[in-house]
Amino acid sequence: MSNNDISIHPPTRWLFGPGPSQVHPRVYEAMRQPIVGHLDPYFFTVNEDIQQMLRRVFGTENKLTFAISGTGSGGMETAITNFVEPGAKVAVLASGYFADRMTDMAKRQGGDVVRFEKPWGGVFADAEAADFIRREKPRVVMYVHAETSSGAVQKGKAICAAAHEVGAIVITDVVTSLGAMPVQVDETGIDVAYSCTQKGLSCPPGLAPITLSPRAAERLNERASTNRSWYFDLKLLNDFYNVSHRYHHTVSITLFYALHEALTLIVEEGVENRWQRHQRAHAQFVTGIEALGLRMHVPDDVNRIVNLNTPCVPEGVDDAKVRTALVRDHGIEIAGGFGPLAGKVFRIGIMGPLATEEHVARLLEHFGSALQAAGLDRTPAAVTT
Ligand code: PLP
Repeated sequence: MSNNDISIHPPTRWLFGPGPSQVHPRVYEAMRQPIVGHLDPYFFTVNEDIQQMLRRVFGTENKLTFAISGTGSGGMETAITNFVEPGAKVAVLASGYFADRMTDMAKRQGGDVVRFEKPWGGVFADAEAADFIRREKPRVVMYVHAETSSGAVQKGKAICAAAHEVGAIVITDVVTSLGAMPVQVDETGIDVAYSCTQKGLSCPPGLAPITLSPRAAERLNERASTNRSWYFDLKLLNDFYNVSHRYHHTVSITLFYALHEALTLIVEEGVENRWQRHQRAHAQFVTGIEALGLRMHVPDDVNRIVNLNTPCVPEGVDDAKVRTALVRDHGIEIAGGFGPLAGKVFRIGIMGPLATEEHVARLLEHFGSALQAAGLDRTPAAVTT
């Protein structure tokens, strides 16, 4: 920035991290449009369109499906503050950082939390998950569909079936998966699913889509105690968005325009086509890194998040050097692991506009060079081990 230039000039970045993901030019264009007031009838038509399109990406008929102000953590806090009443037993299937965050939030709401734990990257088999739930008989069950800290995907059908058997509702984090891979809320039996805008939906951060099954809606209506959170009280939010349209808070109209355009792009492409495109990009990436001699942290391909890859850092390579070189030389952002996976994995998101053959080929080329410069041994013997 020169002395006379007070404008911002962000550097060009290719967002191949776990989020935020690359934003389509049409979404930026939508954000340039003049705002209207948050009580303007035009805002509510935009809101209505968003709800309809969200139902398609969530795979649900749920009436209560909307985008609330806040990031993915705001969605998490909304789900937990509305459905974990003080003293309620909460069963968490935990094998990564975001399940730990859910645990923390549930405890802060006064929940009595019990956990079934596995190392980061682990997934829960149907029978063991169901046994845990049947044994604990909680009021709420929580799990993360796509655990961004590890790269693993958790199936939900058996979890939801066991939870319903014991009268519990299920809260599922779909922050990373929504828009990039099937979430199928109704088919899976999920009661409350929340997400964000900046990953699979390829929109800037700031809104948290959430959906509530009829069972969850009933539970919300029956809730006797007043929610400790005013901002995230779903009864108040539903009244503003869907019923009286009376002022609750001043929503960001610009972000609603952005989400409207991002969802329109998805609907135009076709939700299934978009999932398949992400699946192809993922397969291309895995083939490419295996050819470099790397292996994936999540061993079984059916348990891998499609849009967030966690290849292991090869022996003798400093992952920070690779990440620094990529951003410095090519404007490519990828992330490293953290917690127990610090220095052990890369976290590479391939989502939205970047989930194409051409972009993945470019990423692989530069990633391969950066790995070699950071000490990757590519002799044939090393590659085959
Ligand atoms: N849940 C998961 C699985 C996430 O990956 C993230 C963020 O990466 C969050 C929740 C929190 O989302 P945010 O950072 O948008 O608040």
